Amino acid sequence: MSQSNSLEQFLKHFFGYDSFRPGQAKIVEEALQNRDLLVIMPTGGGKSLCFQLPALLKPGLSVVISPLIALMQDQVDTLLDNGIGATFLNSSLSSQEIRSREQAIVHGKIKLLYIAPERLLNEKFAPFLGFIFQKIGISAFAIDEAHCVSEWGHDFRPEYRQLKQLRQCYPQVPMFALTATATKRVQEDIIKQLGLRQPRIHIASFNRPNLYYDVKPKERHSYNTLLTYIRGQKGTGIIYCLSRRSVDKIALYLQKDGIEALPYHAGMNDQTRRLNQNRFIRDDVQVIVATIAFGMGIDKPDVRFVIHYDLPRNLEGYYQESGRAGRDGEPAKCTLFFSLSDLKRIEYIINQKTSSQERKVSRQQLRQVVDYAEGVDCRRTIVLRYFGERFLGKCGNCDNCLNPKPTEDWTIEAQKFLSCVVRCNEKFGMTHIIDVLRGSKKRKIEQYGHHLLSTYSIGKDKSLAEWKMLGRSLIHQDLLDETSDGFSVLKLNKQSWEILRKQRKVKISVNQKSALKVLTDNEYVATEIELLFDRLRLLRKQLADSNNIAPYVIFSDLSLKLMAQLKPKNIQEFSKISGVTDFKVNQYGEKFLLEIRLFFRGQTSINSLPTQSNMVTLQLYQQGLDTAEIAKRRGLKESTIYSHLSELIEVRQPVDIDKLVLPVRQNIIVQAIKKIGDSTLTPIKEYLGDDYSYSEIKLVRAWYRRKQQL
Ligand code: ADP
Ligand code: ZN
Repeated sequence: MSQSNSLEQFLKHFFGYDSFRPGQAKIVEEALQNRDLLVIMPTGGGKSLCFQLPALLKPGLSVVISPLIALMQDQVDTLLDNGIGATFLNSSLSSQEIRSREQAIVHGKIKLLYIAPERLLNEKFAPFLGFIFQKIGISAFAIDEAHCVSEWGHDFRPEYRQLKQLRQCYPQVPMFALTATATKRVQEDIIKQLGLRQPRIHIASFNRPNLYYDVKPKERHSYNTLLTYIRGQKGTGIIYCLSRRSVDKIALYLQKDGIEALPYHAGMNDQTRRLNQNRFIRDDVQVIVATIAFGMGIDKPDVRFVIHYDLPRNLEGYYQESGRAGRDGEPAKCTLFFSLSDLKRIEYIINQKTSSQERKVSRQQLRQVVDYAEGVDCRRTIVLRYFGERFLGKCGNCDNCLNPKPTEDWTIEAQKFLSCVVRCNEKFGMTHIIDVLRGSKKRKIEQYGHHLLSTYSIGKDKSLAEWKMLGRSLIHQDLLDETSDGFSVLKLNKQSWEILRKQRKVKISVNQKSALKVLTDNEYVATEIELLFDRLRLLRKQLADSNNIAPYVIFSDLSLKLMAQLKPKNIQEFSKISGVTDFKVNQYGEKFLLEIRLFFRGQTSINSLPTQSNMVTLQLYQQGLDTAEIAKRRGLKESTIYSHLSELIEVRQPVDIDKLVLPVRQNIIVQAIKKIGDSTLTPIKEYLGDDYSYSEIKLVRAWYRRKQQL
């Protein structure tokens, strides 16, 4: 049997996964050969496994250096729940607790020790580490978030600098450095600062195929768009806002509208912040509204959507933050709300900066974000290009690919554009080139004598926006280069010359209103699986709460989804599911099997759950069908559907009351309920008269009751 074959068996045994993610197997093999490693993978790529599996297969203790306490706790919880000997040491523990954990290490019960850099090297711990090295051996040092060692990174931590001592004190122990940072400069710095020895460097693709990217226009009533959007989502999500004020505001609005949302920003006290974070991690609330202060060190794998409600300042930040969605590899959405007034706000902030170099860099970064937001090409191609990766487009999982704008042949326009770049000696940016093409009278043009060029004023037939669209598309399609040193100068590349020589045609997507989405019957067929999935999620949540751990520690979303699809009938079938280890079978198998059995009998072991019939209505409602259509489809009376919706509202399911009853009418009904009480409908109906139907009253009463529960 080949080595990787047997490695896969260990993978299944310890972690329950069926196969390695791209890159993992090779990294594990090299780790087992005691080589130094530099591993660069995007967030959610699966870095932890690269040092965890070798740690389990080698004798001795593996020491994991991690900067964030919350993250340590999460990883250790997950390992322990797989029956793996792991522990952490940090300042949150009492000295007694620390001593008992150190004892466990001395007795060889621990394979993975998580520790903060400052503790690792302090005068108390250093001798202990030396003792461990003598007594049971150290199999590796894994340095997580290794970019913290570099001043060029976005998160420099001086205490990381001291890690250099590890190499001096333990020259024989292999070192693994792991990070999600893409820039070359930081990579070189990591190798130098940590003293890595001829490290194998693994750079995984930054593409995250499971993430869906889209951009929504942010209009005046954008809050309503946001609300509707969130009501249509399953699972938990993060909403990023630019300022603390808007975080507080949006969180409050959402709470008022019945969404379970909590705020998170640096202006709150530590305790509340930690509490809110934990409630989010444990699925107590659906949404966390946060500034970008939130996220570093959040390891929650089952975030299903990340919304940027305000414009991010640069594309790298956007990619990292949105990358917190779908770390478990399951489908998740990344949505950016974009408006020109946001743009003006950020421009204003940038103009306040005193250093002109900083202003220049910030402006360029901002423009890249705008290019992404206004781009008509595959979003993935645009982002990955930013990370120096060439992606061929047509990802099939972004708004531009799914609702492709019609393409047009713009070869002639492209030739005009490119030849203008040549005439300007490849020394200018897009705005200037367009000014020349459109015959602008700006002083700068005359200063350079560009009003005398043959390309001056040959592009009057197209608007500024159209030329911009063309220019961007040329860059995104790799048909033109742009420098990235803060100046954004346009330069021709090989492909550009082919266009000028008429060897290549140029097609660009042209912005138009996107087509309406049409419902398919498949969405209806998937209902049962989704309902069972929801049920299993609830069971997981209940078990997690009673064991005081985060839900994903028990099973990932993927495992639950597979259970819903495969509907295992017995322990054998159950144990075959990806993510299910023998340990988990013993721990949870019977409970999940029982719930699956009960589901098909129309029963449940979970309290306070909407009935199955209500859930079918909810599914159809969320697909955009109105009550009459749902009634027809289900062969029920419309009034019955209204009853379902009322019950759903009351148990806090995402049904938008405003779409069912006009707010003015809601008000009048609420007044009546307040006067008469909410226990029986008839007196309310009599009080209101023929203008108000039973269905309406029922809906509003449910809404009213739900608000009372808060
Ligand atoms: P990061 O690279 O951000 O540190 P993690 O190591 O936290 O990523 O992994 C992200 C998620 O992917 C985790 O939920 C982890 O359990 C899961 N994962 C990692 N490797 C595999 C695999 N081979 N098969 C399935 N899931 C995996
Ligand atoms: Zn795409």
